[in-house]
Parts: sequence; C-alpha cells; structure tokens
Amino acid sequence: MTPLTESAIRAAFVNCTKGEVTRLAVPNDLPERPWSDLDFLGWRDPGAPERAYLVAESAGELVGVALRVASQTGRVRRSMCSLCLTTHTGDGVSLMTARKAGREGRQGNSVGAYICTDLACSLYLRGKRNAGRRIDESITLTEKVERTTSHLAAFLAKVVG
Ligand SMILES: [Zn+2]
Repeated sequence: MTPLTESAIRAAFVNCTKGEVTRLAVPNDLPERPWSDLDFLGWRDPGAPERAYLVAESAGELVGVALRVASQTGRVRRSMCSLCLTTHTGDGVSLMTARKAGREGRQGNSVGAYICTDLACSLYLRGKRNAGRRIDESITLTEKVERTTSHLAAFLAKVVG
C-alpha cells in the first residue's frame, strides 16, 4: 500500500469521535513500516492492550477503524484469522470488535471478526512472519491477497454500514 502519514491516518477513522481520533496512538515508526508488503496497516496500542486499529484503502478511500480486542478466555478459541485465513497456534487470533460508524454505533451496535492478534495478515500471507503452523494452499499469493482484501472490504462495509 501507499505509505501513509499520521494526519492521513487520523483523518481516515470512521467509528471514532473527534476526541478519540486526537488521542489514539498512531505508530511512531511509520517510515519504517514495510509498506510494499502491506495490504492494510494494522497496529495495537502499546499503552492499551485492548485497543487495536486498522487502516485500509477501500473503494479508493482510506478507511480507518478502531477495534476492541476481546481478552483471551481460553476454552473456545478460534485459531483461524477471518481476513487472511492464516491458522495460528496459541493466542495468534483474537476476536476484535468495531463500533459501527454513525448513528448505529451511537446506539451501541458493533461488528466483530477474528483477526490475527498482531494484525500482520499481510506478512503471514507473504511468509515474512511465521504463524507456527503452515497450511500449504495451491493458490497464488496474488489470489490470497485478493481474498484477504475482499474479506477486509466486507468487514469494513459492515462497520461503515
Ligand atoms: Zn490475519
């Protein structure tokens, strides 16, 4: 994806109040992010483990969503990311919930998805990060990226409403 600036990132959020957008923790290492290998930018707030953020291009526009990371309760735990379909061992996948944009969000509606806990889907797809278990698929990287991008677009569409 195209490298993003902090101001472009802050301007992209669709499910935050102005105050939340001002306060949210944008990564301070943006220039070092592996942009050419990223299909979207995702990060966890280092100071607030329950907060995660995701910014992606969707239909030519930049869309950012704030996510709440459900704490891991053990027991029934999904191990496959619903975006990139990477299968993880351990705590590699978390349930993340996004408040919906606009009126629906103010009424308390949200959308959830199981996503790689470190939001590094793009790097798992490219074999740049190891999930501990590898499932060989017969489809190409381009197809995997397209599949992930379409899953992400569907998730973002639900958040935007
Ligand atoms: Zn993933």
